[in-house]
Parts: sequence; structure tokens; C-alpha cells
Amino acid sequence: MKLIDGKLISASLKENLAEQVKSLPGKYGRVPHLVVIRVGEDPASVVYVRNKAKACEAVGIKNTTIVKDEKITEEELLNLIRDLNADDMVDGVLVQLPLPKHISEAKVIEAIDKNKDVDGFHPLNVAGLWQRTPHMEPCTPKGIMYLLKEMGIDPKGKRAVVIGRSNIVGLPVAKMLLDANATVTQCHTRTVDLPSITRQAEILVVAAGRAKMVTGDMVSDGVVVIDVGMNRDPETGKLCGDVDFESVAPKASAITPVPGGVGPMTIACLMQNTVECFINKMNK
Ligand code: NAP
Repeated sequence: MKLIDGKLISASLKENLAEQVKSLPGKYGRVPHLVVIRVGEDPASVVYVRNKAKACEAVGIKNTTIVKDEKITEEELLNLIRDLNADDMVDGVLVQLPLPKHISEAKVIEAIDKNKDVDGFHPLNVAGLWQRTPHMEPCTPKGIMYLLKEMGIDPKGKRAVVIGRSNIVGLPVAKMLLDANATVTQCHTRTVDLPSITRQAEILVVAAGRAKMVTGDMVSDGVVVIDVGMNRDPETGKLCGDVDFESVAPKASAITPVPGGVGPMTIACLMQNTVECFINKMNK
């Protein structure tokens, strides 16, 4: 069994990006600038936004974090985004989700200039993924495909099973696997006899948000397992994935750990998207 070391692979991606970023001022006069907006004090969001700032620092990207009170109105937030869209010195805009209930996430995502949409959530970027036209790719699925490539795992001709169909992970990763010529099955809460399907998987991506729901008896020998889940283990309180690592790892040919698998790749790909937005903008 090979451990798919997302920490190591993301560190090397960030090192490469840092080298690339060093060369940008010579060519374009400045480094990329990512603006992250956080609304309210959701503890998980505080950590995520802090980690994004740290990654920017490591890569040499300029970061501005804007923190707004949770009472900010939808219109105020949309106006802030419009100002950032119009600011030529800003290359990437990210609004940390979730937002307070009185603000429409859909409206906020749509308000971000698609060319500054480093998360790849804008409807036009989503359309680009489905129509195979140029677009920003969402970070977590992009990170998953990067891990497979780095491990020398080619999805071509393989049976891939994705558990989950969310807009941010399940749907886009299934489409990316399909584009990489895998034969893809997508599972969800209404799937009947999930284990009979997961046992057919040669590549299994699990993004359900259910602690340790995939157990050893649900997979076949030699499967490649990508565990996207980030949950609290109900017994230990520790961070754990959607996959029961202990029973699944002995059967897998390769598997991501949690933590240290998909998580660090998501942030590294966010850095990559920021550099991409910057270069696209400068070359226009
Ligand atoms: P989500 O929006 O809650 O979607 C979960 C999906 O899983 C839904 O499509 C749901 O089916 C399906 N599902 C849930 N329980 C299931 C079950 N028992 N059997 C089959 N399908 C089931 O979650 P998400 O945003 O995609 O995130 C999934 C997990 O990944 C979470 O733990 C999240 O924290 C983690 N995550 C990690 C990263 C990272 O960077 N590592 C990034 C994003 C998310 P229905 O559609 O039928 O409800």
C-alpha cells in the first residue's frame, strides 16, 4: 500500500509556485494579489482563512484578508466584491463560505468576476468545466486530480466511483475523472446497495462528510482511495476522514490519509489558481 502524501506533494507544488512567483515582478511589475473576505467569526472559517494567508506568504503571493461583521448586509458585501472586481491591483477574490443565513451564497458567488474567481465556483466557470471551455477549476477536485497524476495513477479506462454529488467536490471531481477517461459512477444518499458499487471501484473518491463510513468490506483489493472527508471522530474527537483508514488501507494500492491528504492540496491549488488568474489578466 502506498500512502498518497498530500502534505509532501502540496509542499512541492508550493515550492514550484514560489519559484514562479519570484519571476513574475520582472515580467509584470508585481506579484499576484489575493483578497480573502471572511464574514463573522465561524471558528472553522477563521482557521481556513488564516491557513490561506499563511500559504500566500509561503508562496510569495500578496494577501489581504478583509474581516466583516456578521451583520453586514448582502448589498454591502456585494458592493465590496464589485469594488474588488474593479480594482486592477486585485487578481483573486475569495469569499469564505458558509455565509450568515441572510446573505445569498449564490448571489455572492455570481458577483465575483469570473476571471478573479480563484475558487472556481462562479456559474460561468462551472459551465466551462462541463462544456470543456477555458475556466478556473475548483480547488479540491483539482487537487485530487493532481494527486492522482503525481502518483502515476491514470484514470483512463478505470472504474471510478465517487460518493457525494456536491457542487464543490462530488460533481466536479466526477466530471474531471470522466474527462480523464474513467468510467464514472456517482453515489449519494439515495443510492441502493452502496457497498456493491464501491466494491467495483478501481478509484474511489469519498466526499460524503460521514466519519469513517467506508469500511474495509466495502472495497476490493488494489483500489485507489481518495478520502476528501474532514470530520470529527465521534469517539476520539480527532480529525478523521470519510474512510475507515484502518480497515481500508490494507486492501488499497494507494490511499490518502486524513489529515495530510486532500486538505493541503486544496490550499496549494488555490495558490495555483491565484497565479493563473494573475497571468491570464496580465496577458490580456
Ligand atoms: P456535502 O455538500 O454535505 O455533500 C455530501 C454528499 O455526500 C451529498 O451529495 C450526499 O448525498 C452524499 N452523502 C452523504 N452521506 C452519504 C451516505 N451515507 N451515502 C452516500 N452518499 C452520502 O459535502 P461536501 O461539501 O461535498 O464535503 C464532503 C466532505 O468533504 C466533508 O467532510 C467536507 O468537510 C470535506 N471537504 C474537504 C475539503 C478538503 O479540502 N479536504 C474540501 C471540501 C470538503 P445527497 O446529495 O443525496 O444528500
